[in-house]
Amino acid sequence: MSKGILRIYTGPMFSGKSSKLIDDAEAAKEPKLIVTSKIGTKENHLYSRDDKTIPAIRMNDSKLLAELLESKDYKNVFIDEGQFFDRGIIKVINEGISKGINFTVAGIRRDVYGNVFGHLKELKDYADEVIFLSSLCNFCGKKANYSARLINGVLDQGDNDIVILKDAGAEIEYIATCREHKTTKQSTTEEFELNN
Ligand SMILES: [Zn+2]
Repeated sequence: MSKGILRIYTGPMFSGKSSKLIDDAEAAKEPKLIVTSKIGTKENHLYSRDDKTIPAIRMNDSKLLAELLESKDYKNVFIDEGQFFDRGIIKVINEGISKGINFTVAGIRRDVYGNVFGHLKELKDYADEVIFLSSLCNFCGKKANYSARLINGVLDQGDNDIVILKDAGAEIEYIATCREHKTTKQSTTEEFELNN
């Protein structure tokens, strides 16, 4: 049996990751599975910032993903917001590849303080193809590889949780920045796991 492949799209906010993922998902043969995050959305669709949309299952749990892959003979699997999955995603994807499933994962490269976010970095070690996307710095217009956050219009300098949900009461706006304009904070994200 031929093996599957793993492709990863990664970059900062506004770099077009979801848009690329949706394009690939639309072009892929059935049976295909499209997964988006449970965090920050309550809708069973995946959206890109350039107004593309595709139906998707909301999930962040690698055990549930493994069960779904057992339940049907999926050939192509697409995962958006891959940084929100638990570390089990690495094993599930590698086992799927050995069974001939192709995976495409999109996820943010770093958190809003410039640190490693979730397990995408480790997953990249297993990828056949990693596509680094970039955006433009909100402050100077140069190439942006980092993301930052405004809370009630003020730049978040590193005193908050990595993830702040939209319904938390504050106005949250994400931006992309170059290296010079990134926010920095000592990493605590290596142990970061979302319990959901
Ligand atoms: Zn800049």
